[in-house]
Amino acid sequence: MPRDGDIDRFRLADVDVSSKKKSTHRSYALVSLGCPKNLVDSERMAGLLDHDGYRMVGDPRNAETVIVNTCGFIGDARDESYRAIEEMLRLKDRGRVRRVVVAGCLAEREREALLERYPGIDQLIGVFARDEIAVAINGLPVAGKRDDAVGGSQEAGRALFSPAPSRPLPDSGRHRITLRHLAYLKIAEGCNRLCSFCAIPQMRGRYASKPIDQVVAEAEELAADGVRELVLVAQDTTFYGLDLDGRPQLAELLRRLDRVDGLSWIRLMYLYPMHITDELIETIAGASKVLPYLDIPLQHISDDVLRRMRRQVNRRQTEELLDRLRGGIKSLSLRTTLLAGFPGETEEQFEELLEFVRRQRFERLGAFAFSNEPGTAAADLDQHLPEEVKLSRRDRLMAAQQEVAFAWNASQVGKRLDVMIDRPVPGQRTAYVGRCWADAPEVDGQVYVTGENLAAGQIVACEIVAAKEYDLIAVA
Ligand code: SF4
Repeated sequence: MPRDGDIDRFRLADVDVSSKKKSTHRSYALVSLGCPKNLVDSERMAGLLDHDGYRMVGDPRNAETVIVNTCGFIGDARDESYRAIEEMLRLKDRGRVRRVVVAGCLAEREREALLERYPGIDQLIGVFARDEIAVAINGLPVAGKRDDAVGGSQEAGRALFSPAPSRPLPDSGRHRITLRHLAYLKIAEGCNRLCSFCAIPQMRGRYASKPIDQVVAEAEELAADGVRELVLVAQDTTFYGLDLDGRPQLAELLRRLDRVDGLSWIRLMYLYPMHITDELIETIAGASKVLPYLDIPLQHISDDVLRRMRRQVNRRQTEELLDRLRGGIKSLSLRTTLLAGFPGETEEQFEELLEFVRRQRFERLGAFAFSNEPGTAAADLDQHLPEEVKLSRRDRLMAAQQEVAFAWNASQVGKRLDVMIDRPVPGQRTAYVGRCWADAPEVDGQVYVTGENLAAGQIVACEIVAAKEYDLIAVA
């Protein structure tokens, strides 16, 4: 499910500087683009390479092999992936890098066309072939012709793809590149919804839940590795379990995760506005570690637009759901994502969306301009809007939300809130950056904390002394 902020993550896995002095033999650098689900894939590939004796370096110029784990869901994301590939191929042309491997959604979506576009790519690896990363790289000569001894998956020269497995690949043994106390946990792969604007099912396949025991085992591994905040992700988190035995099982999963030692916070992202049962609401409200924070991308509110988006929900159902959630979960912080400029969206329908934003007062909200994605049903619709109309509507949504967000922040002044400390501010002995329950990592606001001897991953009760736009100022 698309959400703001995902496309501007050009994450370069950082490691200790000392690597500069070592030879580059069997070293690799990792460029991880896109959403947290892709980030989990990056960390899994890094873990497999470490296990095979490879060494991660922070700077691609010090690496023998660079892996670009790409994103392919909308135009801007693809452009960023192309830029990252081009940058790494320039390093290769200058002899700073020996091999360039391209993985992830763009590889899965464009396949051999990407190799034609970039003949310098040494290896393409599809989303479901990611666990063969070490085997694939071992089969690559440092420079020149490759050996074909790679087994298992369909392999066409420099392209390695696998069909989607019936169950998601395991994400254990990761080399995590997030903050030590924070981790994303993918509970399922793929999506069965067919929203007309979305290309993700083309890349990630049909919905496949990870069995509960596998999710819990991965959560325990992460907690033992220092994780205090666990962020649950999938394309559609609320569909969890329905493909296993026809029952929604997210509530059951949360009750199991709530008992995992070491975790302090469990955060839910990417919920779809369906299958949110009373049992799930009661479980979230009654759990000790599950935050009263829900990310539910709604995309729109006009019945006609929702119908053309094939969202399977209408305005009445959406508003009833929001009322149930606000009524059932104390101090709930709701995040949503809206799509502006969908083909055929009239000014009247857009005004309806603006009015919805002003009335619902989401604590957190992001907006996208519609991106015409090849191969989606929306691409064949008529009445596509001019780019400037799409962009101005997106900006009008964000302007309306800014007033809501700033007012919410101002209302926190004087309160005492628990803040998860993420890191110290460099060069300042008593200054730290953190987040409260209403702040998901990397997409929401932050809390700037003044305090003594605080540690990353520590949850500190703070007094909110001021609000500064989307952020809060606090004293521990
Ligand atoms: S098809 Fe719909 S629910 Fe599925 S990932 Fe795309 S936007 Fe999300």
